[in-house]
Amino acid sequence: MHSSRSDAEPLEDARTLPGPDAPVLIVGDGRSRRIPDFAMELIVFAAIGIAVMLLIPGSTLTRVAGALALVALACWRGYAHGREIGAVAGALPPLAFAACISGLAIATAEPLYDVILCFNVLLVALQENRRTVALVVAGTWIALIPPALIHPEELGLRAAVWAALLPILAVPVQRRSEELRNRVGLGPKLRALQATMLSDPDSRETLVTAAPELARCDVVTLIEPDSTGTFVVTASNVPGAAGCEVPDADNSLVHRVVRTGKPVFVPDAHRADGLPARLRDEFGDYRTWFCAPVMRSGLVAAVFCTGWRNRIARPDHLRIDIVRSLASEASTTIDHTDLLRSLSDTASRDPLTGLINRRGWDGLLAKEMAISRSRRTPLSVAIIDLDRFKDFNDVHGHRAGDRLLREAAGAWTAAIRHGDELARWGGEEFTLLLPDCGGACALDVVERLRDQTPGGETCSAGVAAWDGVETPAELFERMDEALYAAKSAGRDLAMLAAPPRRGRAVASRG
Ligand code: GH3
Ligand code: MG
Ligand code: MG
Repeated sequence: MHSSRSDAEPLEDARTLPGPDAPVLIVGDGRSRRIPDFAMELIVFAAIGIAVMLLIPGSTLTRVAGALALVALACWRGYAHGREIGAVAGALPPLAFAACISGLAIATAEPLYDVILCFNVLLVALQENRRTVALVVAGTWIALIPPALIHPEELGLRAAVWAALLPILAVPVQRRSEELRNRVGLGPKLRALQATMLSDPDSRETLVTAAPELARCDVVTLIEPDSTGTFVVTASNVPGAAGCEVPDADNSLVHRVVRTGKPVFVPDAHRADGLPARLRDEFGDYRTWFCAPVMRSGLVAAVFCTGWRNRIARPDHLRIDIVRSLASEASTTIDHTDLLRSLSDTASRDPLTGLINRRGWDGLLAKEMAISRSRRTPLSVAIIDLDRFKDFNDVHGHRAGDRLLREAAGAWTAAIRHGDELARWGGEEFTLLLPDCGGACALDVVERLRDQTPGGETCSAGVAAWDGVETPAELFERMDEALYAAKSAGRDLAMLAAPPRRGRAVASRG
């Protein structure tokens, strides 16, 4: 028997499901013995503690104290592991460890302890951020001083050497391990961005909004050629930058990327050899730039540029990889959204006249009705039908009929104002959407259009002013009835539909 929906596990809303980047749920246990991570850390530090007791000279008391301090620190580290703690809290366990080791060094004058101090710093450099490492290096310098002062002969010179070596060792280790950590974290971030871009109607905006955080830069611009070949900023995180043309066709950085197809890094735009002085204008406030080509079918289709206010002397590999990844992301997702846009455009346009079709008109009418309702402005519609078009076809042929339809569409489109919309409803019937225009105004517009009918042909029209309440179907019916009345009255005529019995009064433009 089938279980009913209520017996089954509750289904989560698909939009709230976390996806492949969520923490992995492990079903069952593949390990032979379960040792918690915390216990593992404890075992490692306990082993080090025992080694300290056995290998390092000194009184039993100091050795036991040192070993216990290590075990306590292991507990502390275990607690801090995976928790969001600040730089100071993160530095406390290794600093306490350094203090213990310093105490042991004072008690024993044993030179090996400064090596342990160095390992402590390196361990921190592998796991922590730059601030924590700086704190631990400074603390270790201080921890080196008392043993060196108390045992200057045994430890003095060694302390000075270690003090100099610590930052030299710790800084590159920290930098490299942080880069590796960031690299590991980048995959899920890029996948999330890609998913958002693919579902977003404007993937360019999504890209330039998300990119500054990923590339840790101040400005992002996507530059693409327009229909005339001029390079124009199509998206940017800087307000007002979109739409700006890229100056200096042959010498600009953008054109260099387009010509060579290679990414270009400019560490200091104010001192860029081989680039023209005019570049200073192109770069504005941003000193360091990295521009990568966005490829499509082996050609440079766009240029993805990132800029920093501060000068970056040498580009780090991670940064370059991120910008490259974003540029290739741009290519696939922009292709995808452009394709979607052109498909939806094709679906809502009539191929013969280039006007929007019934589907496009329906969408537009719904939008204009909402605007008219909220602003309480008038809205009118009209249907225009060529008179005796069947006869025209019969006499001149279908090709001439098609030409007349195209010419009528062109002539009428030229006669309407910006914001009005002419659509091909089907056959020789056209509909007209007139926002901010009442019945009398709409009748005027339709008469003007009828005067422009090409080839000495005539047309009839039905006009209706929306009452602010009726549905699109009801409005269409009134307009169609008016057309029928015009045809019945002898054609070459426009008729205004009587207002419906109910509805609010709307102001008229005409
Ligand atoms: P009325 O004045 O009553 O509107 O008469 P009419 O002949 O214009 O109307 P009717 O509905 O009888 O005929 C419409 C004609 O339009 C019939 C059809 O062959 C023609 N037509 C429809 N679509 C096209 C088209 O895309 N191209 C051409 N050439 N003719 C078309
Ligand atoms: Mg007709
Ligand atoms: Mg007709």
